[in-house]
This record gives sequence, structure tokens and C-alpha cells, in this order.
Amino acid sequence: MVSEFLKNVLDTIKRGVELGGFPEELYKILSKPERILIIKIPVRMDDGRLEIFEGYRVQHNSALGPYKGGIRFHPEVTLEDDIALATLMTLKNSLAGIPYGGGKGAVRVDPKKLSPRELEQLSRGYVRALYPVLGDQTDIPAPDVGTNPQIMAWMVDEYSKMAGRNVPGVFTSKPPVLWGNPVREYSTGFGCAVVTREAAEKYLGGIEGKRVAIQGFGNVARWHAYWLQKMGAKIVAISDTSGTVYDPEGINVELAMKVKNETRKVINYPKGEKIHDPKAALYVDADILGPDALENQITMENVNKIKAKIIVEGANGPTTPEAERELAKKGVIVVPDFLANAGGVVMSYLEWVENLQWYFWGEEETRARLENIMKNNFLRVYKKFEDMRTEKKDIVMRDAALVLSLERLYEAMKYRGWL
Ligand code: NAP
Repeated sequence: MVSEFLKNVLDTIKRGVELGGFPEELYKILSKPERILIIKIPVRMDDGRLEIFEGYRVQHNSALGPYKGGIRFHPEVTLEDDIALATLMTLKNSLAGIPYGGGKGAVRVDPKKLSPRELEQLSRGYVRALYPVLGDQTDIPAPDVGTNPQIMAWMVDEYSKMAGRNVPGVFTSKPPVLWGNPVREYSTGFGCAVVTREAAEKYLGGIEGKRVAIQGFGNVARWHAYWLQKMGAKIVAISDTSGTVYDPEGINVELAMKVKNETRKVINYPKGEKIHDPKAALYVDADILGPDALENQITMENVNKIKAKIIVEGANGPTTPEAERELAKKGVIVVPDFLANAGGVVMSYLEWVENLQWYFWGEEETRARLENIMKNNFLRVYKKFEDMRTEKKDIVMRDAALVLSLERLYEAMKYRGWL
């Protein structure tokens, strides 16, 4: 029995294979990971008990380069979900045009219940168990839900000790002082902003003065809002679990960040209308909407309340497939998550390139490189989308992105003789 999540991912690939007219073999090869590792990580807890944690690393596909994908620490992770996430990384990295395959790792643990010492032991144990299959040329993990730059620092230290030399390029999103890059902190939101600006250029005549509503005010959402404001957009709504702030005159994002950092609630922002519904940001009068909080937010139940003409998915899976088709009927463009929020993994790629050369760019230079890659990726998908919909009416931008991603994988595997 395959989990719902994995089934959905496999169905997506199947649909893409049909849509792009690729041979059935492409589905066959992408429907199974190249390697799955199940590990046991013993940790001596602070109270003296020995606890054994189960962990995974799924190496899904390496046709385009080393495996790349985060490590999740979460109490409910399953191997099947990890396979699904690794498969999605193969598609995302291919679409991003970077030389990476897809991978994902996980440990079944609630990191909030561990002391810092226990968390460090677990992180180091994960690396020790997987040392033979990780490497800066083979498999390069990064943080995901429940992991962070500190954990990457412990991991790169453990790996380096085992290797007998410093190996900075084996993990990405490290602290800047330990071979990381300051752009990483805002790279996903910044990438979303670049893609939003390009979409506005194509469909709304430019970003200047366009009204943008953002759902969420976490890592992705706040930087999406911040950079869009710098690019000339007017941020009219932001939200978090405390509620929504709506100000048609425009919200000062830097001030909102200060308020959020100090009080943990955006609703304490001193101006505008306060709506005690975190979802209200989705429905306000705006030209562009960034659903940047969590999955399954725009569904058949609320799709008719959306007023924006462009939706840029900063979160993973915020729009259900049915709602997306409904939006398409009304002419709303949905820029899909695996294009819009790829700024994080593209930044990881840039950090890795720096690490391999032991040569570090400044913040501005790194950001310019990231911007260039995100912009070109959007323009490639835009062109494919417009070409596809002249021939077939019910195409959405996600379909075009999927076909482009599969095309690159297919060609690489064909040249390599895998297909
Ligand atoms: P995060 O820092 O935890 O932020 C999530 C934000 O959403 C928080 O501000 C949270 O409010 C808010 N939120 C939760 N439920 C909400 C609701 N019902 N309505 C409005 N806001 C709500 O997470 P993140 O890293 O930004 O990730 C957000 C999404 O982007 C996820 O889907 C993630 O998978 C995806 N993503 C993230 C990255 C990355 O680099 N971080 C990369 C790719 C994709 P509170 O502040 O009140 O808790």
C-alpha cells in the first residue's frame, strides 16, 4: 500500500510523461529511488538511557549530478514520505537547471524534546551512519523541517573529522562563518520575489505599484514581501497565526518584521485593519497573492473568494489541483511552488560552488547570480507554458514546468544510456 503523498507524486510524474509525450520507461525509472538507506542512530540521553532513533536517506536519481535534498527531523516522518520528498527534489533540481539529482533524509524524532547535547549527538550520529554514501561529489544534504544551520555545522564537522580534512561542500546552508553564505537566510523569499516580478512583467505590465497580499510571515513570506517592496510593489496584506493585517495604503515590511520579531504577532503592526482570520490575506483586494505559509490553503471551498490575478506559490502545495483548474478558467496564473520557491536550493548550489573552489563571493554578487538563475528559470517556463497553451487549452503553468523538468531528465538519461 503506497501512502497518499507518494501516490500523488507518482501520479504527477505519470501525467507529465503523458503530457510531454515521453516513453513510458521514463515513468518506470523515476518511480523508484536508486538507493534507500534505513539507519539506526543510538544516542545516550541526558538521563542515562540509550535511545535508538530511526533515520533514512533516499537517493532518488543522480542523472544530472550528486543527490541533493534536505534532512527532516520530525516525529511523524515515514520512509514512504521521504521517498516522495526525494522524488520531488529530482523534479525541482532538474527544473532549476542546476547540476543536481534528488535526495532527501529524515529522522523520526521530535527535535523540540531533545536537549542541545542530545540534538548534537543525533546529528553527528546521522552523519556517522551515512558517511560512506555522503560526500561533496555524491550526496549533499541541507536543512529541512526541524533542522537548521547549527545542525549543518555539527554535521559538516563530523564528516570532516571522519574524512581527516575539512570538507565544506558536503552540507549546505551552513552558518556564514563556517563556509555558508549570508544570502541563504532570505534566498527562498528573494527567489519568490524575482519570479513574482517577472510574472508581473509578463501579465500585468510590471511590478511597480502592484498590490500584493502575502499569507504567512515566516522565513519565506517575510522576505518575499520585503524584496517585492524593494522592487516597487505595494504590500497590502500580511498574516500569521495571530491574524491578518490589511492596509490598502501599503504596509512597511521592515517595521512589520521588527514588530513580529519583538512581539511574535503581525497583528501588533501599528497601522491598517486587523482581521482575526489568518486566511483573510488570501481574499483581500490585490493584484498578486503569495500563499507562503503552508499547504492546502486554496481549495474548492474558498477559490471563489480569491481576487488576485497572479498567484506565486511560496509555500509547498498551497493550491489544490482542483482549485488550480478553477483559477485557470478565470484566467488566473498560478506560478507553481517548485519553480517559485526554488531560490533556497539554487542558493545551496551557489554555496556548494563556493565551497568546492574555496573562493567566496560577496553578498551582492551571490544575490545577482541567484537572481539571474531564478529569472531565467521563470522565462523558460513562461515560454513553454505559452507555447503549450496555444495547442492545448486547459494547460496550467505547473504542467509546462513539469514537462520541462522531465525533458531535462529524459535527455540526460538517454545520453547516458539509461533509457
Ligand atoms: P516558517 O518560517 O515556519 O513560517 C510559516 C509561517 O506561516 C509563519 O509565519 C506562521 O505563523 C504562518 N502560518 C501558519 N499557519 C498559518 C495560517 N493558517 N495562516 C496564515 N499564516 C500561517 O516556514 P517557512 O520556512 O517560511 O516555510 C513556509 C512554506 O514554504 C512551507 O510550505 C515550506 O515547505 C515552504 N518552503 C520553505 C523553504 C525555505 O527555504 N524556508 C523553501 C522551499 C519551500 P506564525 O509565525 O504565527 O507561526
